[in-house]
Amino acid sequence: MTASKTRGIGFTSQRTRDRMIERLRAQGVQDETVLAAMATVPRHLFVDEALASRAYEDMALPIGFEQTISQPVVVAVMIAALRRGREGKLGKVLEIGTGCGYQAAVLAQVSAEVYSMERISGLLERARANLRELRLRDLRLAYGDGANGLPEAAPFDAIILAASTPEVPAALKAQLAVGGRLIAPLIVKPGSGAANSEQTLYLLERTSTGWSEQWLDAVRFVPLRAGKQ
Ligand code: SAH
Repeated sequence: MTASKTRGIGFTSQRTRDRMIERLRAQGVQDETVLAAMATVPRHLFVDEALASRAYEDMALPIGFEQTISQPVVVAVMIAALRRGREGKLGKVLEIGTGCGYQAAVLAQVSAEVYSMERISGLLERARANLRELRLRDLRLAYGDGANGLPEAAPFDAIILAASTPEVPAALKAQLAVGGRLIAPLIVKPGSGAANSEQTLYLLERTSTGWSEQWLDAVRFVPLRAGKQ
C-alpha cells in the first residue's frame, strides 16, 4: 500500500475523519482521548474498497463472513465507558471479536497493551492485513473462542465484547483484574434471529469486595458464537 492510500484523498482524507469526530461530539461523546484516537485511525482501510466512501458514516458496514464493522459512535461510547473517571491509558485490554480490526486499532491508541480474539480465521487474516500498515506495537491478535478468554495473558484491566450474549461468559469475569471493567452488549430480550433481539450495553466493574454493574445504551451487535471457524 502506498503512503497516499494511508493518508487518503477525498472521502478518505483527514477532513472526512474530522467531520466524523464532530458528529460524535454532537452525539454526546466527550472523551477527548477517544476522539483523538478515532481521528487518527483510517477507518476506510478496514472496509472493502467498494464501501470506502461510506466508511465514515455513522453506520455498521459489512466486512464479509456475515459480520460487520461497528458503528463509530458505538466504538466511542464503549471505550469511553471503560475510561470514565480514569487518568491515562487503559492498561492491558482484551477485545472479543476482532472482526476487521478497526476497534482494536482504536483501542491500541488508548491502551498500554491490547489482545484481540476472533473465532473466524478468514476474518482474523483480513484484520491482520488491515492492521499491518499501521504498525501498532503492543497489539496482538489471537485465534480462538473468545468466551474462554486468554488465560495466558490474564488478568485484564479492561475487557470489551464486540458480539452480543445473554450473559457474560464466566471465564471473562474470572480474567478481569480487581478494579477492571468489562463492557458487553447483553441480550435482554431474545428475538427471532439475532437481528431482532433487544440488546443493552452492560458495564461491569470488579471491585475489591465484589462487582458493580451499570446499564447503558440500547445497541445491536452480531451474536457471540461458540467454537472456531
Ligand atoms: N470489533 C469489530 C466488530 C466485530 S463484529 C470492529 O472493530 O468493527 C463481531 C465479531 O465477533 C465478528 O467478527 C465475529 O466473528 C466475532 N465473534 C463472535 N463470537 C466470537 C467468539 N466466541 N470469539 C471470538 N470472536 C467472536
